[in-house]
Amino acid sequence: MGTQDMDIKIKFWGTRGSIATPGQDTLKYGGNTSCVEVTGADNALVIFDAGTGIRPLGLDLLKRYPSEAKIHGHIFITHFHLDHIQGFPFFVPVYVPGNTFTIYGCEGAGKKLENIFVGQMSPEYFPVTLREMPAEMIFTQLTTRPVTLNNGWTVTPTYVNHPGLALGYKLDTGKHKVAYLTDNEPFRYLLRQQGNQSPMFDDLDKGVVELEREDKNLVEFSRGVDILIHDAQYTIDEYKAKLSWGHSFYEFALEMAIQAEVKQLVLFHHDPMRPDKELDDILLKCQKIVSDRKSPMQVVAAWEGLEITLP
Ligand SMILES: [Zn+2]
Ligand SMILES: [Zn+2]
Repeated sequence: MGTQDMDIKIKFWGTRGSIATPGQDTLKYGGNTSCVEVTGADNALVIFDAGTGIRPLGLDLLKRYPSEAKIHGHIFITHFHLDHIQGFPFFVPVYVPGNTFTIYGCEGAGKKLENIFVGQMSPEYFPVTLREMPAEMIFTQLTTRPVTLNNGWTVTPTYVNHPGLALGYKLDTGKHKVAYLTDNEPFRYLLRQQGNQSPMFDDLDKGVVELEREDKNLVEFSRGVDILIHDAQYTIDEYKAKLSWGHSFYEFALEMAIQAEVKQLVLFHHDPMRPDKELDDILLKCQKIVSDRKSPMQVVAAWEGLEITLP
């Protein structure tokens, strides 16, 4: 059996959007910001985003690898808002000589990928510079060209709708596909706003969820994947006050996933103001919509520690 035929495991280490939110109200779904790990045979390791969730992931990796084994991971960053990179300086495996991490991402605000990481660790923000971290780090700046890892897995980037440049990713192991589209906003309402057509708010008031051509491109990107991890930060009502902030409402994430005929949708990037009991409610509403639409899709709300194994 080749490595491409093996099980993969997806584990959620950070599920929260915008800022870490520890506390009594977030115990169930978690307070750490974006970080998702995918592992496969022969220690294949792909990490999406380096929010604060990458800190506990790093500690866990050190436990999993015997001291003589070296970690070789591929870290795909969607963009450089703090909730997606802030955990990196606290990712302990980069302090272990012999480990190797390839870090992928787009440029950010005209800055090269590597310089953004150097900047985050400049002395006014952090006591250790990037150059002083002993692991080998390779920075690979992406556009939308797919990347093939040495085990044959491919990761395809795509641009999403978020302030500044931001990427989403699709991992294809040859047997399984996982799409990671966090920090993505529907195009429809923004375009209508720019076109100065006021029906936009009427649509939202009526709960109309329709996809623009640009949204449909992301539907095609996600078509048939086993798992779609999608931004579901807001409710449709909350979204009216958050237009152009770069995030989706859960009804939109559902529509994208149903149209893309994905097997499982994972609601992700939970709003920092969202207590556990509201997320329970949202999940129930989503499951009802899916069942009313007679879709076979499963839907879950990502929680810190959630593991999904694809056999
Ligand atoms: Zn974010
Ligand atoms: Zn963002």
